[in-house]
Amino acid sequence: MAAPDNIIVGSHVWIEDPKLAWIDGEVTRISGKDVHVRTTNGKNVVTNMSQVFPKDTEAPPGGVDDMTKLSYLHEPGVLQNLATRYELNEIYTYTGNILIAVNPFQRLPHLYDTHMMEQYKGAAFGELSPHVFAVADAAYRAMVNEGKSNSILVSGESGAGKTETTKMLMRYLAFLGGRSGVEGRTVEQQVLESNPVLEAFGNAKTVRNNNSSRFGKFVEIQFDKSGRISGAAIRTYLLERSRVCQISDPERNYHCFYLLCAAPAEDKEKYKLGSPKSFHYLNQSKCYELDGVDDAHEYLETRRAMDIVGIGEEEQEAIFRVVAAILHLGNIEFAKGAEIDSSKIKDDKSRFHLDTTAELLRCDPTNLEDALIKRVMVTPEEIITRTLDPENAVSSRDALAKTLYSRLFDWIVEKINVSIGQDPDSKSIIGVLDIYGFESFKCNSFEQFCINFTNEKLQQHFNQHVFKMEQEEYTKEEIDWSYIEFVDNQDVLDLIEKKPGGIISLLDEACMFPKSTHETFAQKLYQTFKNNKRFIKPKLSRTDFTILHYAGEVNYQANQFLDKNKDYVIAEHQAVMTASKCPFVMGLFTPLKEESSKSSKFSSIGARFKLQLQSLMETLSVTEPHYIRCVKPNNVLKPAIFENVNIIQQLRCGGVLEAIRISCAGYPTRRAFYEFLNRFGLLAPEILDENYDDKVACQMILDRKGLKGYQIGKTKVFLRAGQMAELDARRAEV
Ligand code: ATP
Ligand code: MG
Repeated sequence: MAAPDNIIVGSHVWIEDPKLAWIDGEVTRISGKDVHVRTTNGKNVVTNMSQVFPKDTEAPPGGVDDMTKLSYLHEPGVLQNLATRYELNEIYTYTGNILIAVNPFQRLPHLYDTHMMEQYKGAAFGELSPHVFAVADAAYRAMVNEGKSNSILVSGESGAGKTETTKMLMRYLAFLGGRSGVEGRTVEQQVLESNPVLEAFGNAKTVRNNNSSRFGKFVEIQFDKSGRISGAAIRTYLLERSRVCQISDPERNYHCFYLLCAAPAEDKEKYKLGSPKSFHYLNQSKCYELDGVDDAHEYLETRRAMDIVGIGEEEQEAIFRVVAAILHLGNIEFAKGAEIDSSKIKDDKSRFHLDTTAELLRCDPTNLEDALIKRVMVTPEEIITRTLDPENAVSSRDALAKTLYSRLFDWIVEKINVSIGQDPDSKSIIGVLDIYGFESFKCNSFEQFCINFTNEKLQQHFNQHVFKMEQEEYTKEEIDWSYIEFVDNQDVLDLIEKKPGGIISLLDEACMFPKSTHETFAQKLYQTFKNNKRFIKPKLSRTDFTILHYAGEVNYQANQFLDKNKDYVIAEHQAVMTASKCPFVMGLFTPLKEESSKSSKFSSIGARFKLQLQSLMETLSVTEPHYIRCVKPNNVLKPAIFENVNIIQQLRCGGVLEAIRISCAGYPTRRAFYEFLNRFGLLAPEILDENYDDKVACQMILDRKGLKGYQIGKTKVFLRAGQMAELDARRAEV
């Protein structure tokens, strides 16, 4: 987005500002490349001509509903437009086919009621105000009319509103493709009720979002020939396991733990539960309650939703028994045992929790105790029993809790899938993706690595698509175009996933080699990628590494990569659980058939995740994608606060600015002939007087003004970046 060279004294312009990102002002003097600007907040600033962007003084006061209608398509223009609209509670704006959604942080009930759904039903895209319903409607119409699968990709950082958006999309699709008048458990109702169930078990309060999804989700809604919902499949990605055992103030563990602690008295007695404050897995943080959420009510709601998605009474009982067991498990403490490096159950209280855990999981308490504090090694000669010291016993306990929880989560997802059912005859689907956005924190570990890998993949898909759409528009208007360059991130993807030699491969190798440590792993990375442009070894660190992602640099700490990548269940845990008298618990630990046949192969979280992503990308590649970029306007989660710098950063990461850049590289400004003549007719009134055909008149004006490189399409004038500003400047001279 180069600044045009038609800035003159008196021009209204945007210049960069450290606090506000951009500030507008008026040019007071130009000397060489230096531009003097008097800003609207009363400062005099001198800046370089290349940093000055023209401001559209004729922008409509309420903003424009599509960024491509902006006369000047640049960062400050985009930001100003979003801000103007946000102030008016217009939270949705298009950028071509991309929908930008700025989180209102307040309920806007009219925006989503049935009346609104009726309005959008069948309306042409762009005819009504931008809306998630319009995107869902476009996807649905395209599917019905062309028989092609569609997907809607929702992205944005934590708390930006992805999950809320996804729920609206699903509600609208259920509205379009549901069976009106049918009572009871319809497929569409089950699809909708899967949301509260998944949220109870997969969402938690974090510092960034009170209801943060700790997993990625792709919901594939299947439709029959007549456009009715006939089945659905939910795929989930990478549930955050560490949260089960470790939380920091003021975050919370998964909602289900608190719901269960607020259950009716008889349920609580059955599971020997008390206040959440009495459980180690919950009391590491002082946050127990959520504003505006009644856990007791949520418990009943979750059970109701479980009924609807087809989780039976007995299964629900078993699920919550496991949830309670995890809480008791976390309260088992260990003390030093009689022998060196051994441990024992610390006291009567811990003994009580051990017994309760065993009782709830229907397994033998002595076997459970042994599984927690002893390891058995079988050699050809003998069987050696090794004891664990208290610290290792705690890790063993936590590992069991994490495995139990993640297996439970997977079971619930699978159960919902089976119960909703798949339609084998369905030819067309609409997929909805709600997956974590790009993350860069002070400390970034394996989770951030996987998340950012996902975003690189999606970004590539996005770039290719935006690029294709641009070119289709040119073809439709029958104008010449040559290839526009765009930033391809294939090199970052190679760095991460290339086989062999990429980071994931090297990590797997390190995990298989018993002597590896995070230091040797990091050294290997430094060696392998020392000439890679996307990889940096930070000067002062021996184990950190930095990747230059499309959205910016991220510094990763390698120290837990090996542990977090290893995907195995401790054999002793497996043995106790498969001996459980409860078929449900046993089932959680019985490997699926296909997995057991491959059990000799090393399995890692990273490699498995890579395969999952690959399969997701394959699914997406045969769909027509629609993009929704969610934006979080502030970090205090409050309405009406619009933090410019923060938002610009998100637009960059979400590829919105890249999409704009791609568009700028071609012909970013398009104007229908009559619009063009309305605005620029006064540059050559004599041409207007002659009553030429609109197209001819446009061409004549452009030629007379000496513009080069523009194109005339079938219905529109296509201008290169900056040309609109050039014409405006001429107009100002008239
Ligand atoms: P995470 O990545 O942490 O899961 P997310 O992008 O899914 O975050 P949401 O949970 O959808 O974020 O939204 C966070 C909160 O923002 C919601 O709980 C809700 O309070 C508010 N919110 C989001 N979208 C809307 C909306 N369209 N209308 C009203 N409130 C909203
Ligand atoms: Mg979410």
